[in-house]
Amino acid sequence: MAGFSEADTVHPIHPREVADKSVKGSLSKAIRMALDVESEAVRRNTRTFNEGRYRATAAIEDYEQLKDRARAIKEAAIDNLPELLTTLEAAVTSRGGHFHLARDAADACHYIKKVCLQCQARLVVKAKSMTTEEIRLNGVLEQAGIEVVETDLAEFILQVSGEQPSHIVAPAIHRSRERISRLFKDAFETDRPLDTGEDLTRFARDYLREKFLTADIGISGANVIAADTGTLMLVESEGNIRMVTQAPPVHIAVAGVEKVVPRREDLAPFIELLGPSGTGQPLTSYTSVIAPPLDYPSFSFGGPPAQDRQFHLVLIDNGRMSMREDPVFREALYCIRCGACLNVCANFQAVGGHAFGGETYSGGIGGSWEAGTGTLQKARFAELCTGCSRCIPQCPVRIDIPWLNTVLKSRLDQSGGVSLQKQLFGNFHLLAGWGSRLAPFAGWVWGLHLSRLVMEKLAGVDRRPDLPSFAARTLARQYRQWRKKRAPQVQPAGRETRRRAALLFADVYTNYTHPQRGMATVRVLERLGVQVELSKVIAEGRASLSQGMITRAGQRAGNIAAYLEDHIDQGRDIVVVEPSVLALFRHDYRHLLKDPAVFEELKAHSYDPMEYLQTVIAEDDLKLEHVFDVDKSNGKRVFFHGHCQQKTIDAVGPTIDLLRRLGFDVSTSSAECCGMAGSFGYKQEYHELSMSVGEDLFDQIRQAETPGTDRIILASGISCCEQIRAGTGRPVLHPMELLAGIML
Ligand code: SF4
Ligand code: SF4
Repeated sequence: MAGFSEADTVHPIHPREVADKSVKGSLSKAIRMALDVESEAVRRNTRTFNEGRYRATAAIEDYEQLKDRARAIKEAAIDNLPELLTTLEAAVTSRGGHFHLARDAADACHYIKKVCLQCQARLVVKAKSMTTEEIRLNGVLEQAGIEVVETDLAEFILQVSGEQPSHIVAPAIHRSRERISRLFKDAFETDRPLDTGEDLTRFARDYLREKFLTADIGISGANVIAADTGTLMLVESEGNIRMVTQAPPVHIAVAGVEKVVPRREDLAPFIELLGPSGTGQPLTSYTSVIAPPLDYPSFSFGGPPAQDRQFHLVLIDNGRMSMREDPVFREALYCIRCGACLNVCANFQAVGGHAFGGETYSGGIGGSWEAGTGTLQKARFAELCTGCSRCIPQCPVRIDIPWLNTVLKSRLDQSGGVSLQKQLFGNFHLLAGWGSRLAPFAGWVWGLHLSRLVMEKLAGVDRRPDLPSFAARTLARQYRQWRKKRAPQVQPAGRETRRRAALLFADVYTNYTHPQRGMATVRVLERLGVQVELSKVIAEGRASLSQGMITRAGQRAGNIAAYLEDHIDQGRDIVVVEPSVLALFRHDYRHLLKDPAVFEELKAHSYDPMEYLQTVIAEDDLKLEHVFDVDKSNGKRVFFHGHCQQKTIDAVGPTIDLLRRLGFDVSTSSAECCGMAGSFGYKQEYHELSMSVGEDLFDQIRQAETPGTDRIILASGISCCEQIRAGTGRPVLHPMELLAGIML
């Protein structure tokens, strides 16, 4: 077994006690427990993985192409799965192995138990396998009087503690070294030193060595299986898989049918991607590529003569073939279980898989697997996915995880009804419209303690966070007044006309709650010679999509696309101040618009304001000092937090670049998400989680401050602004507000 570092205290578990998180109350309880007990270890371990992953993937020269190749192989494999299974069966049996295709968990367990009983097995050693967790294999074998020993360190820890896995790669990620030491001391009543990673590793290795040598059967999973040769590819960091697959005379490999790819050479991109994406290693410590049964006798270790080897490949359907038929959840079958989407997820980092997870699978991708291999109700924890999208660029097979979770939410609501809370947040534009019409009276009522209690009771709107205040002078109103006073600017000769006509999209958030950001954008763009028009205020679907109200979001997307298409045809670019709305146009609408060409056109013509500014400055060869008073920006200290979705659509870089070119001294946040995520932080059941996630960002802001010379805090997203204000008490500006203040 390899060394036992802090990050290695991470691996899977046994479903001894399966928490029921199918109802709201118990999900809230699981969140509270996780925040109190497990959060620190999960944060530390996921961050170690993240740092490794960023380093390791950056070192892969053709990383994006490699991801494309892996995705293409998985897509083709799932398309041709029935044929591949036939090919695989022939390959395995022609080598002298046995092949069993199990329709469900019971069938798989029955077959494996039968093999164990036929072999008169008393001791089975197991390597980590989420699929055997899924089918609850250990309990079935134990009931048949067979001793089952988990040999992966994290699985071993969980077997001792009787817990569920909290991570698909690192099932014991929620346990700190100190908690593992206490666990071992209590469970084994030993006085051996168990204080360091090395102590714990040595202890487990000594305990397990005896088991490897005397086991009758080894059970492993498989990361990928090649149909043409029956070759298994297994990656690991401890070496126990090699022992499990090679020491005992009988090897049973258990895997989902989705692990099959056509050819042996198709294993290559997965070998290259799994280590960097999973543990952050360029290559995992051990990579086994084997085609069992092995052609040398099993080890006898000084005991009776070695027996001939036996090999059984048990492939499991258990809902996967139905997932294959599902137009949305088919995508989950491409998952190679690397865990990157769990590690990068801010909510997962805060609570781990005992709250953000089901009976077997956890994190953003876990909901699809729980629903696919179990029931839809088991995927209720998918509500913890805020749709922040930070996992999408990290997924080595490019799975759109937030979209899967949005569909899960939608299907859950179809079976249980859309709550008042979701109706309220999903129709934010109605609330905001009336709030602005009745401002400031509406704001006063909104802020009353009694109102907050009623909203909490009826709609689950947490009473603690300040609610957004609605502006009486909306962006639309301010723009009309401003336009009356100021004639549209005449274009200087010799400039590209198309680049200089823009439609500022009046999203409902900017229009009703933060109009000053919109007006600052109008003023800066006009100063650069761009003719700016303001759009109508139309709900664009972000609010409803976040609540899983897909049909409504789709209707809104259709309306918006038709409206914006006209403007694009007239040569206008679309500038969008609120990043979550820009991300709709550039990413989410691909799922909502019927015509892909319309989506592509909208995507190509939509801009973040700072990004648009950079484009205009570059294309028109403008000198910054002719537009901005750089004496005011030079050396001024700012802290910028980019919005999560803005990062995913690559629209953060231009802001940082432009600020630096203007001479600002820029610090940036490394927080993936502020925690507020639109309406998420206002919901009673998630408010504490939201603030806990935000704590990282608040700390980074505090650390960037120097007494007496506070940095100006900048954030692009409205919910980020609200969250930072709540967490630090500091005012927050949109970068365009800062730039409007230094215009010549
Ligand atoms: S979209 Fe965000 S919240 Fe959802 S799973 Fe991905 S990282 Fe987590
Ligand atoms: S969804 Fe993607 S990132 Fe998440 S575990 Fe699967 S392959 Fe890895």
